[in-house]
Amino acid sequence: MKIAVLIGDGMGDYPLKELGGKTPLQAAVIPNMRAIAGAGTVRLVNTIPAGMSPGSDVANLSIMGFDPRKYYTGRAPIEAAGAGIAMGKRDVAFRCNLIAVEAERIKDHSSGHITTEEARPIIAALNERLGRPGLTFHVSSGYRHLLIWENGPDELVTIPPHDVLGQPTAQNLPAGARQDEVRRLMEASKPILAAHPVNAARRQAGKTAPTQIWLWGQGQRTTLPAYRDLFGLTGSVISAVDLVRGIGKLTGLNAVIVPGATGFLDTNYAGKVKAALNALDHDDFVFVHVEAPDECGHMGNLKLKLKAIEAFDREIVGPVWRGLEAMRQPYRLIIATDHRTPVAVRNHTAEPVPVAVLDGPMPDAGREAPFDEYVNNGQTSGMAFEWLKSQIGNRRIRPQKAAI
Ligand SMILES: [Zn+2]
Repeated sequence: MKIAVLIGDGMGDYPLKELGGKTPLQAAVIPNMRAIAGAGTVRLVNTIPAGMSPGSDVANLSIMGFDPRKYYTGRAPIEAAGAGIAMGKRDVAFRCNLIAVEAERIKDHSSGHITTEEARPIIAALNERLGRPGLTFHVSSGYRHLLIWENGPDELVTIPPHDVLGQPTAQNLPAGARQDEVRRLMEASKPILAAHPVNAARRQAGKTAPTQIWLWGQGQRTTLPAYRDLFGLTGSVISAVDLVRGIGKLTGLNAVIVPGATGFLDTNYAGKVKAALNALDHDDFVFVHVEAPDECGHMGNLKLKLKAIEAFDREIVGPVWRGLEAMRQPYRLIIATDHRTPVAVRNHTAEPVPVAVLDGPMPDAGREAPFDEYVNNGQTSGMAFEWLKSQIGNRRIRPQKAAI
């Protein structure tokens, strides 16, 4: 049986006045997701264990069937694995954002979605001026980069910059053991970024330019059991972000690089679909992750979030479903969002999210069911990692509702 898991990051939301009391998932045009919910089953699951923060790291570990309470050591070590950076025993990885601060407040955690190509020389300048043996900055993608620090501080509280947009930087700096070393690096990045020609060009073009680095999400290296051992599965993850690629690599899956996958609305959807179907040609599992709905949630931009959800449905869910049908063999198609990123909150929240599962072959019969935050009258079916583990691990075909 072929298994495809398709994730629209941060699609979950709250009812909005602008949508007549509907959530974006209820208001958006998503015929494919609704048809899959209609022909298969749909339920609400918790992706965030009580007491853990609702990051994409914790949520995607859950969806891949891993209990985050057991396996989570921090976001950056997962991203380092995704970026192919080997970590030593004493290394601590930090996420290093290029952020824009204005009037002492965090204005933009993404610096206007600065591109990887623009970021590359900036990271090189940081290495030249601040790097040393045992302390190296690494380019990842867009505004998201990494710092690997041998014997670096691990036991301190750091705050994701997208959690504190608009808030004063001074109140949100890393705090705890060896905080001064981390703060000093962040401070030292300011003149380097201010003087950098890439940033001068961005300012000139009216774009947001990064003003400093922000270090967070630190942790020591982590390991996950392999999918091959757990489920007897080989396969691939397809994502623009190192976090999801990292979970895949840590569990022994291929992390496919799709040219033009950006982590935003302009991503290469067709390329992702092609890579997913290619992967299923020779393996049995694929996990496709689309970042854009989450980014639009962080922007607080409802119009763009609707657009991102609709693009995920039209450009990813529909074509992958049709591709699975064309293979003419048993498949399980799982559609989910990892967490909510409500546009009114501009941040992740921990409430349950919908997951739809369809066992095929089962073509679109045109019978729609809701795929939203209120399926099953809002009743939750427990933790995502338990449910998804059973869906990924148990490949017995369930009897389906008859197609109409
Ligand atoms: Zn997410």
